[in-house]
Amino acid sequence: MVQLDEDQRLVAQTVREFVDREVIPVASEMEHRDEYPDALVDTMKALGLFGLNTPDEYGGNEVDYTTFAIVFEELSRGWMGLAGILGSHLVLCDVLARYGTDDQKRRFLPRLAKGEPRGGICLSEPNAGTDLQAITTTARRDGDQYVVNGSKMWVTNGRRADVLLLLAKTDPDAQPAHRGMSAFVIEKGPPGLTVGRDIDKMGYKTVETCELHFDRFPVPAANLIGGAEGLGFKQVMTGLEAERLNIAARGLGLARAAFEEAIKYAQQRHTFGKAIANHQTIQIKLADMGTKIEASRLLIYSAAAKKDRRERCDVEAGMAKLFATETAAEVSLEAMRILGGNGFSKDFPVERFYRDAPLLLIGGGTNELQRLIIARGLLERYAVS
Ligand SMILES: Cc1cc2nc3c(=O)[nH]c(=O)nc-3n(C[C@H](O)[C@H](O)[C@H](O)COP(=O)(O)OP(=O)(O)OC[C@H]3O[C@@H](n4cnc5c(N)ncnc54)[C@H](O)[C@@H]3O)c2cc1C
Repeated sequence: MVQLDEDQRLVAQTVREFVDREVIPVASEMEHRDEYPDALVDTMKALGLFGLNTPDEYGGNEVDYTTFAIVFEELSRGWMGLAGILGSHLVLCDVLARYGTDDQKRRFLPRLAKGEPRGGICLSEPNAGTDLQAITTTARRDGDQYVVNGSKMWVTNGRRADVLLLLAKTDPDAQPAHRGMSAFVIEKGPPGLTVGRDIDKMGYKTVETCELHFDRFPVPAANLIGGAEGLGFKQVMTGLEAERLNIAARGLGLARAAFEEAIKYAQQRHTFGKAIANHQTIQIKLADMGTKIEASRLLIYSAAAKKDRRERCDVEAGMAKLFATETAAEVSLEAMRILGGNGFSKDFPVERFYRDAPLLLIGGGTNELQRLIIARGLLERYAVS
């Protein structure tokens, strides 16, 4: 087991109690109705979760990355949709806190840290997700503003968020393409930004995921993150490193929830005169599930500790994301097998875990991409001169 310090234990306990008391009793029913959890979001605001990575001087309550991961683990143990509501908001805060000008930090972070307004990130497009340098949304300078044209896809929180991180091309002809990419903090309000449909998803319901269309949408030049063009790709990629940890931790929380359902059920359900937990085939499943969950936790905490030491951790964050999310998908399916027909029924939460898990393989950079990042890093580390 990983030893947590006093502060980390306190945060873990606070979020765990919130999840046990307020989330688990309502999660499945609300998810089936695709109902937005306004009251739960209000409690998350009151707990200060929207300010988790905003420095204290800007009104946040910044925690270390282990604590950050614990929060996502605990929320996802109850309901992964809640972690989705928080996740992209915190990527925006991360990029602003790291790269924003003083003026940008002062204008946006204190409000974002309270969850008023809510945030999101607009990176992916209908024709560009993994290959982000292929985006076609443009931001052209026009006096003291930029004019944005294009479409963004899969924007989580896209309808409810009023402040968004936008990645666009300020120089569409630049080679390599990332040199012509810039990041902006944008606010809804002026005409030219339309929220299209909410995408109908198999899981990860409740939190809305939308298409956004920009048609001559004006953005003040003062909202160019860091105040210089051409830095957006790097800024966004750094923000996504923390997102990998949050997604890995979501996988850990979801896997734990599925495992806990399965190990409880295995001791209560009897076949052939004994609890199914006494059949060796089920024991092997439980052993593999428990082992992979513990390994996920260690990978996540190890990557988080490296990030806290400000060491490069793209390989470690990628490994944690890859392993913990593949574990979540595997464990949710194994839990379903252990519950038999009941695993397939909406009377038990395992079907929800099973529907939520695949997003983790895709979001925050697909696991195919994680393998590329890991391999590239390892080849650098073990280069034969
Ligand atoms: C529910 C949900 C919420 C999301 N929320 C957001 C959000 O808030 N903001 C946002 O910007 N985006 C968001 N996304 C988008 C997400 O980041 C992308 O879906 C993801 O990056 C993959 O991009 P894609 O869907 O375009 O797939 P593609 O890039 O088209 O990839 C298709 C397949 O090809 C593989 N592939 C691609 N390139 C390579 C390669 N070089 N080598 C090997 N395999 C490769 C991929 O791994 C994948 O298996 C969300 C997605 C979902 C499903």
